[in-house]
Amino acid sequence: MEQLPISCTVLSGARTQPVSNMSQRLWDLIPAAYLVAIAAFWGLSPKWLVEAPWTLIAVSSLITLSVLGLEWLNERHVGWRMNRREFLTDLFYVVLGATAISWASMKLAEDPLKAAKASLGISTEWAMHLPFLLQVAMVILVIEFGQYWMHRLMHNSTPFWLTHAPHHHITQLNAAKGYVGNPIELFLISLSLLALFDLPPAAVFCGLNILSAVSTFAHANLRADPPKFYSLIFTTIRHHSLHHSTDYESTRCNYANSLILLDRLFGTYREGEASVVGQDDLRRLSIREQFLFPFQPAIARVRERKRAGRDASIQAIN
Ligand SMILES: [Zn+2]
Ligand SMILES: [Zn+2]
Repeated sequence: MEQLPISCTVLSGARTQPVSNMSQRLWDLIPAAYLVAIAAFWGLSPKWLVEAPWTLIAVSSLITLSVLGLEWLNERHVGWRMNRREFLTDLFYVVLGATAISWASMKLAEDPLKAAKASLGISTEWAMHLPFLLQVAMVILVIEFGQYWMHRLMHNSTPFWLTHAPHHHITQLNAAKGYVGNPIELFLISLSLLALFDLPPAAVFCGLNILSAVSTFAHANLRADPPKFYSLIFTTIRHHSLHHSTDYESTRCNYANSLILLDRLFGTYREGEASVVGQDDLRRLSIREQFLFPFQPAIARVRERKRAGRDASIQAIN
């Protein structure tokens, strides 16, 4: 992997006028305001709204679309500016995540886990009686704990890395980039033990939306740097851009998708920021290349064997 210096410079030529210090401070509070709004929505909504099948999809879409809109108003780096090709790729992965990946995760992981829980007679009824915010915190912690270790494994084991590398080949960060990656990786990172706990749907949906909002802001081309009370606990764009940097050692830190507190606890936290993101020669992968990436070593071996076979027959003819 090529080693390049990490740049923390803000590129010039921003589309938007520079904002005043006062107004920038308000921008910096936006991620935290989203989390409060999400908690208030799920905590205060009537049961029918919480359980309507479209509510979670509508709120999730609103989070992603609104942050994409904010990128236009106060962009972080010109080099990360959204264009048609990036938008269509991101859209493809958002739809893939909401359909095939979540279906596979439900059928291959969640449902078997629920069945095992029922047959073993495991009950966590106590969790149903916790205060709402504590239930939400539990959802966040259980999911993020699994994601942290899965992500760390992906950076430390070649077969797992091959599935995760396409996510690191993205050459710019935007609100929906957290959804972009090889489908095997997207499935693996979706695994969690949450199905073992008895929790009300409102707390589960609230936790999921908070995780996706944090991850969305951590990937967004948005000039919003949350204050300490947020960045001590939640992953920000500074933390995550460093994880996406071109410097190999810097990619081996800040593994938490949303709960940077875990990196602080497990000794993988690193301070910093990057404006240049990507892998090797900074070549952007197409969707096809992202899908085939984990199989590249096998494809190369087959090609090599075919080439050797061809060379042998040519030599035999001669
Ligand atoms: Zn990574
Ligand atoms: Zn990322």
